[in-house]
Amino acid sequence: MPLGRAYSVAVTGVDGQLVEIEADIGQGLPSVHLVGRPDTTLQESRDRVRAAISNSGEKWPDGRVILALSPATLPKVGSVYDLALAAAVLDAAGSIPGPRLAGAVLLGELALDGRIRRVRGILPAVIAARNSGRGTVVVPVAALAEAGLVDGVRVLGATTLIELVDWLRGSGELAAPEPMRPVPVPAIGDLNEVVGQDEARWALEVAAAGGHHLLLTGPPGIGKTMLAQRLPSLLPPLRERESLEVTAIHSVAGTLTDDHPLITWPPFVAPHHSTSVTAMVGGGSGSARPGAASCAHRGVLFLDECAEIGTKVLEALRTPLEEGEVRIARRDGVARYPARFQLVLAANPCPCAPARDIDCICAPLARRRYLGKLSGPLMDRIDLTVQMHAQSAGAFSDTEVESSETVRARVSAARAAAADRWSDLGLTTNAEVPGHILRQKFRLPADALAPVENALRHGRMSARGADRAIRVAWTVCDLRGGGIPTPQDVLQALGFRQRGAI
Ligand SMILES: [Zn+2]
Repeated sequence: MPLGRAYSVAVTGVDGQLVEIEADIGQGLPSVHLVGRPDTTLQESRDRVRAAISNSGEKWPDGRVILALSPATLPKVGSVYDLALAAAVLDAAGSIPGPRLAGAVLLGELALDGRIRRVRGILPAVIAARNSGRGTVVVPVAALAEAGLVDGVRVLGATTLIELVDWLRGSGELAAPEPMRPVPVPAIGDLNEVVGQDEARWALEVAAAGGHHLLLTGPPGIGKTMLAQRLPSLLPPLRERESLEVTAIHSVAGTLTDDHPLITWPPFVAPHHSTSVTAMVGGGSGSARPGAASCAHRGVLFLDECAEIGTKVLEALRTPLEEGEVRIARRDGVARYPARFQLVLAANPCPCAPARDIDCICAPLARRRYLGKLSGPLMDRIDLTVQMHAQSAGAFSDTEVESSETVRARVSAARAAAADRWSDLGLTTNAEVPGHILRQKFRLPADALAPVENALRHGRMSARGADRAIRVAWTVCDLRGGGIPTPQDVLQALGFRQRGAI
């Protein structure tokens, strides 16, 4: 009994696993059966694959066709298997003589006329294919640039099923990825476009250097968004490994473009305040998609008008903030998405949001409730709070403003000092250091700690607040190139909390 075999990859979260597809042609009435936990989209593959094979001038076998996807326990979602299903059927029918099929992993969706369509998650799928030891991966031509980012495996692109079949028979060639063009630095604004707001600029620099989460409050139109958008320009570019990791998430999210297949700069993601829990942390029907929190992995998640965001949506951010990862439990297993981002919140001081604080018409209780919503677990993670005020003068002065490049140099030096200090703990930024380390092994000298202890004694600060202030003091110290925080560094750090609105 003829048996055909081809390989594809199942992607769950950002992890891929090799899937073997077997085709069996048996006696009986012409029919197609798909076994191995296929979902609805995959069930529809039967019709797509059959039409694509016929329309490509190949013969669909007579008899009963059974297509089995294994490992059988792994749920298979989506249309990525179309290409491998078609190849397995043609193999079983004896239409593809030649050894090429056995060493290839095939990824792509088929249109009814045999064209090969792009699917989401090509990058993690190619990584899984390489790790499985297969020498060649065939992807849709449209995803060739993305697939070509993976080293250690031969990547080829096909436009139609006919092209693929010709190549499998050894009578045709497929497209190879073009050499990587240098990736342009994305057009993110420069810090020298922000005039005034010295305190907020300094907070942004500290946030960038220490990896601290930041809250900006102030009247609308004061430049909160403009500042937040410039945070990525102060961060160092992504290292190669990080770059692939971030690109894999965006590949699964389906947000990569052909022009920029590789993400090399920390991403900036700003979901709208009416966003849903699913859009924020991921999920959705069919194959789970990463949310804004994961798309911001190794970059900045900016929540403007955060007091307007639903409590459930804010609560959903707790796990990624604590664990740097989102895990979505589903009927068909757990999808895992990395989500280690830097959080920047922006809020108006009150619901009526006047340009000048004095014009506020809100009741005192309404004012307190407005930002009070942010308190609790989320605010516990915010190391820096800055209240921005309207610039009365100086906005049109011609004093030289520092560019992002100048600030980035200081940030990089400070980050290097911090990474060096915490390397034994496996940490890289001051924001990640647990409280007990700050209080014991790296305890500050008594004179530096005095202002913090004073605030604690008078109940002006919680123990967690004290830890946060010390973390920020380390960053202030790193930025000025000092060895250990001085009382002045600690006072500066305390200032970021006390001047804050909440
Ligand atoms: Zn108001």
